[in-house]
Amino acid sequence: MYKAKAYSTASATSPLAADTIPRRDTTERDVQIEILFCGICHSDLHYARDEWHSVMPTVYPCVPGHEIVGRVTGVGSAVTKFKPGDLAGVGCLVDSDHTCPNCRDGLEQLCPNQTLTYGSPDRHLGGVTYGGYSESIVVDERFVLHVPANLNLAGVAPLLCAGITTYSPLRRWGNLAGKKVGVVGLGGLGHMGVKFARAFGAHIVVFTTSPGKKEDALRLGAHEVIISTSAEEMRQHAGTFDFILDTIAAEHDINAYLNMLGRDGNLTLVGAQEKPLAVSAFALLLGRRSLSGSIIGGIKETQEMLDFCGAHNITADVEVIPIQKVNEAYERLVKSDVKYRFSIDMASLKSE
Ligand code: NAP
Ligand code: ZN
Repeated sequence: MYKAKAYSTASATSPLAADTIPRRDTTERDVQIEILFCGICHSDLHYARDEWHSVMPTVYPCVPGHEIVGRVTGVGSAVTKFKPGDLAGVGCLVDSDHTCPNCRDGLEQLCPNQTLTYGSPDRHLGGVTYGGYSESIVVDERFVLHVPANLNLAGVAPLLCAGITTYSPLRRWGNLAGKKVGVVGLGGLGHMGVKFARAFGAHIVVFTTSPGKKEDALRLGAHEVIISTSAEEMRQHAGTFDFILDTIAAEHDINAYLNMLGRDGNLTLVGAQEKPLAVSAFALLLGRRSLSGSIIGGIKETQEMLDFCGAHNITADVEVIPIQKVNEAYERLVKSDVKYRFSIDMASLKSE
């Protein structure tokens, strides 16, 4: 075991602050990574502030961060996929049971015995796992991804969660070429959803509560933008969508978006609000519509997504910040003021 610098929070109301955490020495299957950039996901904020208490109560101290990109600094004797000096990525998962039907199908994100990058029981050291707001991390090579060398690393980090979380449901929905696809909420997930849906050939409409994001939505690849607070704009598009990806991070009226779907249309929810949604039966019955959820993606699909991004030159639009600005960034996330992902330059942790 060794000590690593990190930023942690001690309670739901404390700011994140400098700390040191234990990391395990590399076992034979492990890859040790010096973290270069870590994205800030809204899930980090939900978890750090115990906003998912009824589903997943937060264990403190908590070190968030599951959009990790860095360089390999050490490998265990049985590691075959990585060597020191390689680029590497780690997302929301660091382990699973490898034996359940979901793992066997490459769907580790659905494994009942998975280990999340932060906040899960740590099978090696006891206590809980600590995430990427840290100078290094040690991860089983089966959960470490190869990062294409041609991409900007600050913009690659968010692909490990925001990227796969939008890529996976869009891919699963089938051939989107020419389909009318809605992306609800233009934040970290939403802006990646727009980029992927564009790459898949869809006709993309962004729903936003922020009129100031309209130009950006078009620049990112949307064909049309609806200001969702305008009843008139919403009415004009009612019943016309094939697929809608809902990335809203807070309580909202899901029926307003279900009513946008056409016949057999599907709304997939990826936004993770804690409170139950009130779903109108008629919003589903009329039009034979369906409502689904989706959570990140499996390791194989995450690698496929990263390779796709390498081939199509896709990264997140990031605002790079030093770790010392993380609390300010959280406040801005709450106000939907992010363009379109914060990426922490982990070199800033050296001065702590
Ligand atoms: P984010 O960057 O904060 O973006 C969320 C966007 O939702 C905001 O930019 C805003 O877009 C919109 N929004 C926020 N509050 C709203 C409200 N009260 N009413 C309507 N729209 C609102 O967050 P994110 O990192 O993209 O994450 C989004 C959600 O997905 C979070 O709940 C997160 O925990 C969850 N998540 C789920 C998964 C998964 O695997 N399913 C993975 C990662 C994250 P506009 O300004 O355009 O309206
Ligand atoms: Zn995330």
